[in-house]
Amino acid sequence: MNHEFAQTLLAWYDRHHRRLPWRTDPAMHERGHRPDPYRVWLSEIMLQQTTVQAVKPYFESFVQRWPTVNDLAAADEDDVLKAWAGLGYYSRARNLKRCADRVASTFDGRFPETIEVLKQLPGIGDYTAAAVSAIAFGRHCAVVDGNVERVVARLHRIATPLPSAKPAIRRLTLDLTPVERSGDFAQAMMDLGATICSPKRPACTLCPVNTHCLAFGQSDAELYPVKPPKRERPVRRGAAFVAVSGDGAVFLRKRPGKGLLAGMSEVPTTAWNARQDGETGPDAAPFDAPWTPAGTVRHVFTHFELHLVIYRAETGEASGDGWWSTPDEIDGEALPTVMKKAIAAAIGS
Ligand code: SF4
Repeated sequence: MNHEFAQTLLAWYDRHHRRLPWRTDPAMHERGHRPDPYRVWLSEIMLQQTTVQAVKPYFESFVQRWPTVNDLAAADEDDVLKAWAGLGYYSRARNLKRCADRVASTFDGRFPETIEVLKQLPGIGDYTAAAVSAIAFGRHCAVVDGNVERVVARLHRIATPLPSAKPAIRRLTLDLTPVERSGDFAQAMMDLGATICSPKRPACTLCPVNTHCLAFGQSDAELYPVKPPKRERPVRRGAAFVAVSGDGAVFLRKRPGKGLLAGMSEVPTTAWNARQDGETGPDAAPFDAPWTPAGTVRHVFTHFELHLVIYRAETGEASGDGWWSTPDEIDGEALPTVMKKAIAAAIGS
């Protein structure tokens, strides 16, 4: 069944594949043209925890500005962080730069082909290594993202909840993957999950492989993959202080080089572990100014929800390491989304 499954899915992919800026047309692969490993790697890093729609403009601007991995290696890290601002999960941007440096210096600007060597590079885990190895180099490996996980769990009606089911899903995916066209097959599985085998209400009657699908046979696709019970996200609290000068500049500083949002820019904030109201009051500000309340901001991180009380002050003086960012400059700063929200709450967007 595996050979027939792969051939059916690939025939569907040849006709219905998504056109995405980092992909090459499968017809070109038949003529021996392979996708550029740099573009495959860059897109896969950007797509981690992020939607295709959000990634597209970032991908386009990155490859325009840094067309090769050597160009990215030669870039200034602050410029890369600024270009990444708004995409979230900022450790990816720092690892992206470190990985480009290693590929340029150790591998002469050419990405390695095997999962084992790719995984030694910064920011490249099991999934990304498999995706680059299969899509860019045609190696036979199991490429399992969230979409593929869902498709395979349904094809086999896997009753074990995630994440315990992951090893079985990986094995079954490898069994399904053909030796020829393994990269196209991986992308076909992703496309099937993204366009037809959706989390809610999958379009099973349109699915090219429904005759192979156990969940379709039992009409219970939405039960798979089985999820573990949900855990509540803890709430953390803090305060942020938006100092605005007479000409509209905002006082910013750089976050420490380690930890959450490391190396990004921010308005001064307290630590995010306040337990009492006093710790989020104007007295917690890092310098004296006529602070007035300007609302609150909520932001959801992967492991917690942050509630920030926002204060604003008109002042020309601020103390501590930092700089004044003028209205012309602020869009180009490496500000994560939570800080953009804090500034918008204080001065409007
Ligand atoms: Fe997914 Fe339905 Fe296709 Fe099965 S038949 S793989 S559940 S879309």
